[in-house]
Amino acid sequence: MADTLIYQSLATLAERLAQKQISSVELTQAVIARTHLVDSRVKAFNSRDEADALAQAKASDARRATGNVGGALDGIPIGLKDVIAVENQPLTASSRMLANFISPYDATVTEKLKKGGAVLWGRLNMDEFAMGSSTENSATQQTCNPWNLSCVPGGSSGGSAAALAAGEAIATLGSDTGGSIRQPAAFCGVVGLKPTYGLISRYGLIAFASSLDQIGPLTHTVEDAATLLQVIAGHDERDSTSFRTEIPDYRAELKKRHGPWKLGIPKEYFGDGLDPEVGAAVERAIEFYRLQGCEIKEVSLPHTRYCLDAYYVIATAEASSNLARFDGVRYGHRAEKAADVVDQYFQSRAEGFGEEVKRRIILGTYVLSSGYYDAYYLRAQKVRTLIRQDFLNAYQEVDALITPTTPTPAFKLGAKADPLALYLCDIYTIGVNLAGLPAISLPCGFSSSGLPLGLQLIGRPFEEAGLLAIANAYEQGHDWHNRHPQL
Ligand code: GLN
Repeated sequence: MADTLIYQSLATLAERLAQKQISSVELTQAVIARTHLVDSRVKAFNSRDEADALAQAKASDARRATGNVGGALDGIPIGLKDVIAVENQPLTASSRMLANFISPYDATVTEKLKKGGAVLWGRLNMDEFAMGSSTENSATQQTCNPWNLSCVPGGSSGGSAAALAAGEAIATLGSDTGGSIRQPAAFCGVVGLKPTYGLISRYGLIAFASSLDQIGPLTHTVEDAATLLQVIAGHDERDSTSFRTEIPDYRAELKKRHGPWKLGIPKEYFGDGLDPEVGAAVERAIEFYRLQGCEIKEVSLPHTRYCLDAYYVIATAEASSNLARFDGVRYGHRAEKAADVVDQYFQSRAEGFGEEVKRRIILGTYVLSSGYYDAYYLRAQKVRTLIRQDFLNAYQEVDALITPTTPTPAFKLGAKADPLALYLCDIYTIGVNLAGLPAISLPCGFSSSGLPLGLQLIGRPFEEAGLLAIANAYEQGHDWHNRHPQL
């Protein structure tokens, strides 16, 4: 029973719930049973409350019995990255700093999921404060890649991708500041969508770099990504960067739009450092689109080589300011043995934050300091404008861009001890955040050692509908999304 439920699409499950072939309690039990079976090996969850999930499922079944269904997600277990607030539940950002923190309120996305009747299921592991690409920076535990337990699941939303791939949730939410939804989606063989900056409210998302952060769905199919996006998208008074824009019916649009499209291949994304198997899989995807009648055009994004540099100035600067609130007084871990109040601040932060977080705070404080601000932060902002302009220029000629999501498939746990080696994992995803664009990663094959490979499609701002349609065309012609790890 379990296997026939846990890997079904949201659409299929909604249909089966509507037909009363299954109940939400049965579905939730299947997900819980699967989690019992595999999570001691995958280690995707920071915390979970089975009784609470079953109570939500029961409430969903009761609503359905009275014909009062919340929407497409009603009764379906959805996992959340442990950086998205749920009232009265732990919220740790996988940091010692917040080890005992209970959120006093719901994030806007949480509110929307609850309103839609979703069963909120568990808090998923991540790199501490979303800083990392392998979930190795978590202070909680090491999540493993379900396709090969000796490999990383990617990060920072590694728990969200691994839980989904392992069948421990039907869909999950992650957050993406420089690739944190798309990169783990690619490593775990699932679909990950980073929406346009401003489409999803960030209210109740623990901030890493506020001008880059965006919440988004991880799902088994492109259509499921559209379904989840529909529920969480939209303007929110409580996030001043949230955009007022018409929200289309993403699923309807996905089915209506058929191309052929003009697709651009940014030549800077196919150079040195690209693993030949990843490159070949993406080439095959490009060939697929060509055979579908799409016009394929080489384009140039000349400022690509500055993306990583600009990102690690801007993201660390914003992080140093966002993380100032975790001082043991306003928020977070408080050191017990301190000589005086100043010492208490020092000790609390020294004990509460992990290595990588400290590195980012130090770097970010430096680039913002007087005398260096113009040379680093201001300059990085100018470079960011050039990077965005590169993309907008490309969109004069094409509808979307095709690139690999990551330079390599998932790597072994512990393989990248040097922080710079890890930073390079995001070389193809970071430009999208700097430019504020939507992008999706979808499975496009497997390496010879059986690890999933990811294809990235990058769209125009607020053109998620078109982007999803292009991604869906590829998915319809392949069956990668139907393969699941043996656990
Ligand atoms: N890996 C990148 C970083 O460490 C991106 C992380 C993210 O998107 N949250 O900053």
